[in-house]
Amino acid sequence: MKTSARIAIVGAGAAGLASASRLAKRLQGAQITLIDARREHLYQPGFTLVGAGIKPASYVLSSTQDYIPQGVDWVQQAAAEIDPEARKVVTTDGRTIPYDYLIVACGLELNYGAIEGMDIALIGKEGIGSVYHSPQAAELTWQSMQRFANQGGVALMGRPHTDMKCAGAPLKYTFITDDRLRRAGQRGRAELHYLAPQKTLFSVPIVAEKVRMLFAQRGIQTHMEHRLVALDPGRRIATYETPAGRTELRWDFIHVVPPMRAPAVVRNSPLPWQDGPFARESWLEVDRETLRHKRYANVFGLGDIAGVPKGKTAASVKWQVPVAVDHLVGDLAGRPSEERYNGYTSCPLITRLGRAMLIEFDYHDNLYESFPGFIAPLEELWVSWVMKTMALKPTYISMLRGRA
Ligand SMILES: Cc1cc2nc3c(=O)[nH]c(=O)nc-3n(C[C@H](O)[C@H](O)[C@H](O)COP(=O)(O)OP(=O)(O)OC[C@H]3O[C@@H](n4cnc5c(N)ncnc54)[C@H](O)[C@@H]3O)c2cc1C
Repeated sequence: MKTSARIAIVGAGAAGLASASRLAKRLQGAQITLIDARREHLYQPGFTLVGAGIKPASYVLSSTQDYIPQGVDWVQQAAAEIDPEARKVVTTDGRTIPYDYLIVACGLELNYGAIEGMDIALIGKEGIGSVYHSPQAAELTWQSMQRFANQGGVALMGRPHTDMKCAGAPLKYTFITDDRLRRAGQRGRAELHYLAPQKTLFSVPIVAEKVRMLFAQRGIQTHMEHRLVALDPGRRIATYETPAGRTELRWDFIHVVPPMRAPAVVRNSPLPWQDGPFARESWLEVDRETLRHKRYANVFGLGDIAGVPKGKTAASVKWQVPVAVDHLVGDLAGRPSEERYNGYTSCPLITRLGRAMLIEFDYHDNLYESFPGFIAPLEELWVSWVMKTMALKPTYISMLRGRA
């Protein structure tokens, strides 16, 4: 379709690049501008594999430039301000980018500072790990976890109270740590604790029950309604808030997954939800089926920033992007779009090295089966492991190029 529309995309990660690729394929003459200061592209679903000692950090690193579609401008600056009334984005170097349509795809912010005593410089020291932060942090986490697996002791695993990207990753990393201990012959000398602020282990009840059973079988102790609030790295003491008050636990290895929230550029704009469950972390106020902003019809929110009940995985991005792009193109063509996002979220949950459960679900907690008769969702399968460790990355790269 021919158009002279100006489309700005804030964020050139999974959702931003996939959107730019699809728009560039469907629109002729549009001015598409990607705004992102980061030159490296991070394949984040691989971070857990780096943290498990299965892949090197280079496995998750590539260059953003490699995925910028032809004809799309890339402004290599962060967005400092979004003004949806004036329809413009202002970058950190003061450049103004006016738009007719805006796609917000800036991901989320890891709020390590919300845990008293935690500092990203501590990752890899004093038994502290966090695969979430970066490829380097994932590698340092592997070194810390490996030391622990060879010696035994007490490991504290867990997740934050906020919505988070890949809610399966803290569970995977717990299973992997358990397996590494067993392989090193040290499981008998270790205690593994999983502590989480929620009442259940996973948002989908049937998956929560399966994980609960597996944790019980493997001797992983669960502590629900425990929120990590402070670390004392010198004494290796973690403080948790519980309904009964504060409690302290000592660690030999701790895997820290911080609270997550919208990046400042969104928090400081009129775009977040104003009330309800998504307001506290300032997620973008979008319609859950069309990903269109509820108050600014020419704005869409995709990927981790979207304030919708499920999602926050690269697999969700794959299903969200074609929907929002079709609505945007439909607007330009003067026709309504029938495309809808159903909340599809997927998580290949590694349960030991060589086995995973491919968990797929939607807004209604229905389990999905992409490969019926071949991959059963709640079974620990070798084929699901192969998908996670080999097949997912090529699919992800195809998605960035608008081909999957
Ligand atoms: C440890 C871990 C394990 C995971 N495992 C899986 C998995 O197994 N399966 C799965 O499907 N997903 C997984 N994910 C989640 C998946 O990686 C994310 O959901 C996905 O990357 C979201 O895409 P996004 O485009 O919203 O954000 P991102 O890919 O994070 O991209 C956001 C981009 O926005 C940019 N940005 C930020 N602020 C600004 C600003 N102010 N201006 C301009 N640009 C900005 C950033 O630089 C970045 O390039 C995992 C993630 C992690 C961390």
